[in-house]
Amino acid sequence: MSMTEKSKIAIGIDLGTTNSLAAVMRDGRPVALAGEHGAIVPSVISFQNDQLLVGIPARQAMLDNPDHTVYSVKRLMGKAAADLKDSDDRLPFQVVADSRGLAAVKIDQKIISPVELSAAILREVKKQAEKALGMEVERAVITVPAYFDDAQRQATRDAGKIAGLEVLRIINEPTAASLAYGMHQLNRGTIVVYDLGGGTFDVSILRLENGIFEVLATAGDTRLGGDDFDMEIVNDIIKQALKSGIIMDHPSPAMRATLKRAAENAKIALSEVEEMTIVVRAGGGNFSLTLTAIEFENLIRPYVERTLDFCRRALADAKLTIDKIDEVILVGGSTRIPMVFNAVEDLFGRPAHCDLGPDEVVALGAAVQADILTGGRNDLLLLDVTPLSLGIETLGGVMNVLIQRNSKIPAVSKEVFTTYVDGQTNVAIRVYQGERELVADNRALGNFDLTGIEPQRAGMPRIEVSFMLDADGILRVTAHDIRSGKQQQITIQPSYGLTRDEVNQMVRESFLHAQDDIDRRLFIELSNESGTVIKATRRAFEVFSEFKDGERQQIEETITRLEEALRGTDPQAVRERLDELNDATADLAARMADDAVAGALKRKSVEEAAKLME
Ligand code: AMP
Repeated sequence: MSMTEKSKIAIGIDLGTTNSLAAVMRDGRPVALAGEHGAIVPSVISFQNDQLLVGIPARQAMLDNPDHTVYSVKRLMGKAAADLKDSDDRLPFQVVADSRGLAAVKIDQKIISPVELSAAILREVKKQAEKALGMEVERAVITVPAYFDDAQRQATRDAGKIAGLEVLRIINEPTAASLAYGMHQLNRGTIVVYDLGGGTFDVSILRLENGIFEVLATAGDTRLGGDDFDMEIVNDIIKQALKSGIIMDHPSPAMRATLKRAAENAKIALSEVEEMTIVVRAGGGNFSLTLTAIEFENLIRPYVERTLDFCRRALADAKLTIDKIDEVILVGGSTRIPMVFNAVEDLFGRPAHCDLGPDEVVALGAAVQADILTGGRNDLLLLDVTPLSLGIETLGGVMNVLIQRNSKIPAVSKEVFTTYVDGQTNVAIRVYQGERELVADNRALGNFDLTGIEPQRAGMPRIEVSFMLDADGILRVTAHDIRSGKQQQITIQPSYGLTRDEVNQMVRESFLHAQDDIDRRLFIELSNESGTVIKATRRAFEVFSEFKDGERQQIEETITRLEEALRGTDPQAVRERLDELNDATADLAARMADDAVAGALKRKSVEEAAKLME
């Protein structure tokens, strides 16, 4: 193979919470790449003195050295430490805030970011893939959950870069699973992707039309998965041991890890056999417990029921009924449990796709996408939607939305803004995400100043703000002063992440406060408009002198009444007084305009007329 061919290869990587995996397109079919320890790289990292272990060796080290072993780092990607307060209790390692307030892991005295830890996993996946392929790999498509926000996607992209990969695209896991099953070759269809992994559960509903995928709805729980099943078995072992007089209710970290491994092995075996005996060393001897598949099913039933509830919720969110679903795809190691796949098939009333292997299917689909992007084929475009609206702050703290929630991505939007103060040479562009009318109630994503604007009268500069949300869900905001050509931009960096519950909460609150919010926004907008009209009227008093009898006094009184209304909170009162002022100045404005351009402009506002007089 020549050098150019060599550098062209692109792999697909499923960077999972529990396990990661790479795949590549071979003879028109995606195949998983098996490294020296098999195809799967456990997403585990262990620090052994000065040595860094990743994958299988790190998972083995978990037993002997649990304090120096880190897993589930995907949960920390792009998150603020403050947002994890309640949820990190299940992680046995120390999660701290780094200098920017982002969640990081502390091992001994070292603080390591989840991006670096993910990069270590990706580097190992890359190394194993290179071994399997016998050539260097530089390019990859990496998958993320459909609910990952901009910050989490950016963090994943950064991890890829640190691992020495050119990240061609970040794609959604359910979309990847659909690609693996060749769904894009169907003309249209509605696909449910049920993903039950080690630590998380997700269900996504995708619509496919003419080769384009769109995420209609997602639901799930980032704290539900095979680990819960293992813990149920561990608790059962502890309970049964107690009955035999063996006390292990506060097991050491090493003992806990041993119990969990024993439980997980039993669970996996029970997907094939009816009964399993678990043996653990405890209390100076061996303790054994026999668990049947039926007993195991009873232990996990409440969890499985919850996943079905999430499926119903996603259907409701997508405004679909079960009979509208054309395909069901199973993803995640835990869907190998017979009770789980039976429950899903029963709910949807159809056989589910699982023959590609639920733990490989996401990586396989990422390989299909990598192949498409590297020119293997270009027959499809992948679409997703943005979960929350994106916009900037305008005068008075109002949220000005540029990209609406549920817009298909990639999305581009542009709007022209101006200044509010004469001679203003700087504007602050503050970017927010959320559904509320005032930015104070939304989530700040980042900000920057556009400087060097040519000083002009308020309202004259034209500042174009554009939002570009790319196919990976990463946002680039640009502000451009059209006259001076000055330009400034940011790519939204991870400040902190949002959980899906928070997204739902933000949307719910926007409904709850809708009327209040609209009134507050209206009041601010009317105040802004009133300020502009009052200022223009006062300017007219300075530049124009031909007033009718009592005209000026009447206008002054109207301004006073408007100013009174502005001290209140009622937008309706401001609207009425503002209309009064506009009426009171209409005739004056027309005369001023006539004066200025000899009748060329009729019905000018006093504001425009004052400008014309200059
Ligand atoms: P994933 O996050 O998709 O890699 O899934 C990992 C989870 O699947 C872990 O909790 C595993 O214990 C579980 N798992 C893998 N294979 C099986 C199996 N055959 N039966 C039951 N659970 C399994």
